[in-house]
Amino acid sequence: MAEEPERLIAEDGTRLDGRKPDELRPLRIQAGVLKRADGSAYLELGSNKIIAAVYGPRELHPRHKQKPDRAVIRFRYNMAPFSVDERKRPGPDRRSIEISKLSKEALEPALFTEYYPRTAIDIFVEVLQADAGTRCAGITAASVALADAGIEMKDLVAAVAAGKVDGHIVLDPMYYEDGYGEADVPLAMMPKYDAITLLQMDGNMTEDEFKEAVRLAKKGCKIIYREQRRALKRKYGGE
Ligand code: ADP
Repeated sequence: MAEEPERLIAEDGTRLDGRKPDELRPLRIQAGVLKRADGSAYLELGSNKIIAAVYGPRELHPRHKQKPDRAVIRFRYNMAPFSVDERKRPGPDRRSIEISKLSKEALEPALFTEYYPRTAIDIFVEVLQADAGTRCAGITAASVALADAGIEMKDLVAAVAAGKVDGHIVLDPMYYEDGYGEADVPLAMMPKYDAITLLQMDGNMTEDEFKEAVRLAKKGCKIIYREQRRALKRKYGGE
């Protein structure tokens, strides 16, 4: 990472990339980008570039892993070796195993898994370029890919982080802010139900700052949700 500048937030609240504290990075979502997956999506959030692919529901093998009353959801988050500054060693590490688990848990409440007994639904998230906030961007993309696969859902899941940078609570920290900031709060939710499905905190905040971070992240999720729906409407009509 480049050397830390004197300040990350200017006196008037402007951030290094010109954003206001409550502003998301530019967001672009495209549904249905892979021919061989049952559902897929491509997402850019600032410099983050992410592909999500969904396979299934399909019969789960080996059969002893099947659930008689519901689908089994499997989620794999992976960072490409070229996605970060220094080449990342290929393959799963502790971080990606943890992110895979929490991403699955963030999406599962939105899925009618009981409609698909004995099956598996496999979700793959590939981070092609990383710039902080990739777990949330991966969940957002995966949710669009699940809808693109035609899987019955209660709602889409939208996700974004808020953070504390130079004592300010900001939406969607980029890598620089994440690296030099004081705290990071990733959040995922089903906007229609105002239901949070992932909430983490890394670093230190007061209770009031945490509440403000949650408020900002929820506000960000609502904007992301509109973009998710737009992406699906562009592919399936309605816009
Ligand atoms: P998130 O991407 O969800 O914010 P982290 O807070 O763990 O997850 O990571 C923040 C950022 O740090 C990532 O988005 C990426 O830009 C960078 N990063 C993560 N892991 C590595 C790694 N192994 N090598 C270099 N950079 C990394």
